[in-house]
Amino acid sequence: MAIQTVNPFTNKVVRSFEEMNDKTVDILVAQSEKTFTSWKKESYEKRAKILHKVASLMREKKEHLAKIITLEMGKLIAQAEGEIMLSADIFDYYATNAAIFLADKHLEPEYGSAYVRCSPMGVILGVEPWNFPFYQVARFSAPNLMIGNTVLVKHASSVPQCAIAIEDLFIEASAPTGLYTNLFISGERASALVADKRIKGVALTGSEAAGASIASEAGKNLKKSVLELGGNDAFIILDDTDIDKVVDWAVVSRINNNGESCVASKRFIALDSVADEFIEKFKEKLSNLVMGDPMDSKTELGPMSSEEAAVHIIDQIRKSVDAGATILLGGTRADRSGAFVKPTILTDLKPEIPAYYEEIFGPVASFYRVKNEEEAIELANDSNFGLGCSIFSQNVARAERIADKIDVGMVFINHPASTKADLPFGGVKDSGYGRELSELGIQEFVNKKLIRIS
Ligand code: NAP
Repeated sequence: MAIQTVNPFTNKVVRSFEEMNDKTVDILVAQSEKTFTSWKKESYEKRAKILHKVASLMREKKEHLAKIITLEMGKLIAQAEGEIMLSADIFDYYATNAAIFLADKHLEPEYGSAYVRCSPMGVILGVEPWNFPFYQVARFSAPNLMIGNTVLVKHASSVPQCAIAIEDLFIEASAPTGLYTNLFISGERASALVADKRIKGVALTGSEAAGASIASEAGKNLKKSVLELGGNDAFIILDDTDIDKVVDWAVVSRINNNGESCVASKRFIALDSVADEFIEKFKEKLSNLVMGDPMDSKTELGPMSSEEAAVHIIDQIRKSVDAGATILLGGTRADRSGAFVKPTILTDLKPEIPAYYEEIFGPVASFYRVKNEEEAIELANDSNFGLGCSIFSQNVARAERIADKIDVGMVFINHPASTKADLPFGGVKDSGYGRELSELGIQEFVNKKLIRIS
């Protein structure tokens, strides 16, 4: 993929960047390793000072940074500003809490005494996607830098100006050279780089194909990996809930980030007695969304991140319809320039239809009607993915019982999936392994060293 800013609202190339050659990458990896030897000795206070500074610079430059996000991948401007604030919160959160999370853990062995000390591992590689170009990088880099690791970031080729802007924040925060390093390389070269002896671990957020590539290199080279991959989350509507409120959440849950969120609800599963009311109101709200310029605060649905993404979604819809799916709403490109796809609802989906198992990364909802709670659970679990799930019911105990039976990494009761610095994020099955954010997220690339005194 060319390393380029292409505005998806106009499909025009804005700026192109040179890919780094092997020699440059070698120098940058060497610098990262060198910086590790001093950074690992720094106190938590010194590390926290730099991260707090990055957070405050982000807040100060919120409008400017948000515009880069919106320009490069089409996120609505208000949501882009929200992403900057969330990212700043993540830097502050780890700067404030890392020393507590990583404190010595004293054990009570049968003989003598013992404790576990958390030590840094070294240079960690992060491979990141375009859909939350600041937040994804924050949740990878903040915990690692507080541990005492240094980071190399291979960002998605479609958000190079975001990649540079993040690196610039570290420079402005007086971070040592080599603490945070942006690599302009292809995905294939990122996978190959995992074999480099100087790199001690790798985290990837992205598709299953990219995850499998990184994980196989990590496996071959006996390195730790964390994978945050796709999702096909269920949104379960039980028969004892306020449908108007649920419909509002359903729209947010499917349309947030123009539908390009791993943890968006993609499969809407309603119990028979409320299914008609739900689908009628859901369809009406989706069809009334205002499409337009993502820089305009009145816009409710922006373009897909790229022309290729829009073409791929339409292809998935077409193949699903050819295999027997019914379109309840939309199903086509919008009648305007730019990478737009109309809000869409598909139904009559069966396992042999692509949209049943595939993740559709855009404003496309799948609708299912089920007889009872058991059928809803069975359908929700009939997925290769296992990222998140939302359950709506006025009976929280009932929703919690169902939550226990859903094979995913995160369940949200009476709310769409959401993310905060202090809540763990991650999935099971083809959605990946390991966790980011919260205390769990800082424990991934740490050497938990046992010290035993006899
Ligand atoms: P993608 O194509 O996998 O790209 C993600 C990153 O991986 C990019 O930096 C990409 O670089 C790189 N990459 C591509 N092929 C690679 C390879 N063979 N080896 C190593 N790296 C490679 O994913 P995407 O389409 O941009 O993002 C959407 C996917 O990410 C969706 O499936 C979504 O659900 C998932 N996602 C998951 C989470 C989560 O937390 N679970 C969060 C956000 C997104 P290039 O850009 O240069 O190709």
